[in-house]
Amino acid sequence: MKRKKDLKIEIMAVGSELLTPYFQDTNSLYLTERLNELGMEVSYKTIVGDEWDDLVLCIQQALSRADIIIAIGGLGPTKDDRTREAFASVLERKLIFNQKLLQKIEERFKRRGHSMPSVNKKQAYLIDGAEVLENKNGTAPGLWLDTDSKVILLFPGPPHELKPMFDSSVWPKLQSYRKKHTARRVLKITGLTESKIETLISDLYPQEPHARLTTLAYPGQIEIHLTVFSEKNQERAEESICKLEKKILGRLKENVFSTTGEELEEVVGRLLRLHKKNLAMAESCTGGLLSHRLTNIPGSSDYVLQSMVVYSNEAKTYNLGVSADLIEQHGAVSSQVATAMAAGIREKARSSYGLSTTGIAGPAGGTPEKPVGLVYTAMAWDSGTDVVKNLFLGNRETIKFQSTQKALDMVRRHLLKKPGG
Ligand code: ATP
Ligand code: MG
Repeated sequence: MKRKKDLKIEIMAVGSELLTPYFQDTNSLYLTERLNELGMEVSYKTIVGDEWDDLVLCIQQALSRADIIIAIGGLGPTKDDRTREAFASVLERKLIFNQKLLQKIEERFKRRGHSMPSVNKKQAYLIDGAEVLENKNGTAPGLWLDTDSKVILLFPGPPHELKPMFDSSVWPKLQSYRKKHTARRVLKITGLTESKIETLISDLYPQEPHARLTTLAYPGQIEIHLTVFSEKNQERAEESICKLEKKILGRLKENVFSTTGEELEEVVGRLLRLHKKNLAMAESCTGGLLSHRLTNIPGSSDYVLQSMVVYSNEAKTYNLGVSADLIEQHGAVSSQVATAMAAGIREKARSSYGLSTTGIAGPAGGTPEKPVGLVYTAMAWDSGTDVVKNLFLGNRETIKFQSTQKALDMVRRHLLKKPGG
């Protein structure tokens, strides 16, 4: 293909199963991510079923608007796998039998002690002029076809086949089409709303013409995805993303908990280890999610001592010594009980920190005084306690997640204030 300034890329996912609610086209996400790393952007994504006429129409459309077309799926041996045939037909190129390819497919079956079923023979046909993309993890070979005006790539559907093929055979080849160098950063934030973030940083947007800033909001977490392009070189891109990142950090300060991909539970773990502190949890409304998140991190036994799910009032009293009178007087969802739970588990586990959650995750159980989403998160340490009243929105699952996010963030902010934090 002749080198053009603005290359249009289209990804086409082929397979009727991808048009049902049960399968998702995740391959195109992977490819988009990898292409973006090369400074290449995707202009179109299509999903098309196995019907011949639909497939042909989609291929015609893709050829009319894109320069690089990456098709996924439908290279298998069965009758409904016809991507190779459809491209050959639209491009008016022959399918040519390749003896070497057949041998490879046969050998693959032999290694497993089988003989090759005759249906697999069709996988040994290549579109005239195409190169083979070797598939080490399956029978369907991929294909790279470079015509005067287009580059066409065909990949098998299974992700564990496509990914290594793309990385080893295609990624290096695409380097020569790269027009831009790209640097990326993801800033993860908690404790600020999306609109607050917007007011704090919106004036930074127009200052960087080669930068893209996307804000993604999740319950309990907001992410700013930064991309900076440079037509010169990678160093230039890195330099300017560092500058932009610094400016944003200057505005959002300690509300940014990660710029390196770390999740909040990893950051908390790292800080606990740094300060040689440890932690125990008493969870009511989060039902173990807080402990689950913390213990998902390898090496967390260095700082997680103990965790208890204390769901009933009796369990809070019996296991943590939260007085029955206190629960009677203020209710289980109260700042007093949350604080007593944190102090109770800290004492029981003899940990540096005790952390607790108690709240109403819904959908039922709310009252006007104590609505669904009311959650108290508390923390106890050697010389004090802290408790936060939260009003979270969302369903049961997101309320539980936000509660753990808040509890983790309390520990993080506390540790940040320590010398060396
Ligand atoms: P095979 O030889 O395995 O049949 P194929 O190229 O014909 O390879 P498909 O039959 O289209 O591939 O898909 C095989 C499986 O790969 C699908 O059942 C699905 O699980 C997965 N798959 C296909 N396309 C995608 C996609 N776009 N994203 C994620 N998974 C996919
Ligand atoms: Mg198939």
